Amino acid sequence: MPLNRRKFLKKSAVTGAGVALAGAAAPSAQAAESAMKKPAKAKRYSLTVLGTTDLHGHVFNWDYFKDAEYTDTAGNAQGLARISTLVNRIRKERGRENTLLLDAGDTIQGTPLTYYYAKVDPITAKGGPVHPMAQAMNAIGYDAVALGNHEFNYGIETLRKFEDQCRFPLLGANALDAKTLKPAFPPYFIKKFHVKGAPPVKVAVLGLTNPGIAIWDKAYVQGKLTFPGLEEQAAKWVPKLRSMGADVVVVSAHSGSSGTSSYGDQLPYVENSAALVAQQVPGIDAILVGHAHVEIPELKVTNTKTGRTVVLSEPLAFA
Ligand SMILES: [Zn+2]
Repeated sequence: MPLNRRKFLKKSAVTGAGVALAGAAAPSAQAAESAMKKPAKAKRYSLTVLGTTDLHGHVFNWDYFKDAEYTDTAGNAQGLARISTLVNRIRKERGRENTLLLDAGDTIQGTPLTYYYAKVDPITAKGGPVHPMAQAMNAIGYDAVALGNHEFNYGIETLRKFEDQCRFPLLGANALDAKTLKPAFPPYFIKKFHVKGAPPVKVAVLGLTNPGIAIWDKAYVQGKLTFPGLEEQAAKWVPKLRSMGADVVVVSAHSGSSGTSSYGDQLPYVENSAALVAQQVPGIDAILVGHAHVEIPELKVTNTKTGRTVVLSEPLAFA
């Protein structure tokens, strides 16, 4: 993840950070207006949403394969330690109470470090260690993280142990129990942001994971979990979140924006459907995109039903 994203930050008051995403700015002008009954004096509240994705076991700016500090020709850095610095900076600028920190999944697989804590000194062992990704993300203070497909690579037991060790929810509205078809993970997370002289702004984060898990980790999930499409599950949950009083709805989606699937028609669900979700499901303000390892500073998608703009952003990968 490049550290030189300051341009992006300065360019737009609504954006999150160099680290990431989409800011849903002035999310609740409407809510504030109706609450104050004098639209002319509507208060505006600015919330900064920071996002990372596809951390893939990168804690430090370290090339875990070369066993040397990570470096590339563009001067980019990786890892949560660097993210922590950026997050602290943005929290200081905006006030921590006005920021939300999200991740879009693929956390516990990808480096020798994650292999070690899954297989060599497993977190699932009796009295086993706390996963370094859980420790680092707890220390930084993530608010919510979406499940990625790679979360299932070491089996459900490892994932559940990791979930236990995280002080933030792992969200997956489209990860359902195969028998009951009820959510197997928390589908959403709601946080209230306090605004001086106005009612609090209620922000809901809906987490969506990748339908491809059904193929890629079939051995672990078959008969246990089922993963329907992001579009249909978002269409089910977003109206619920709005009726629960959410002024702002942010989706953290472990799904790219291209509208295509690497698995062809093996599944009736699109692998990279974040833009389709934005287009088809009314009521979403912003989407943190993951999975595709593509850098998208900002992509504006118009919802076909409401004509409203949904802001998408994908912070490349490895934090
Ligand atoms: Zn992925």
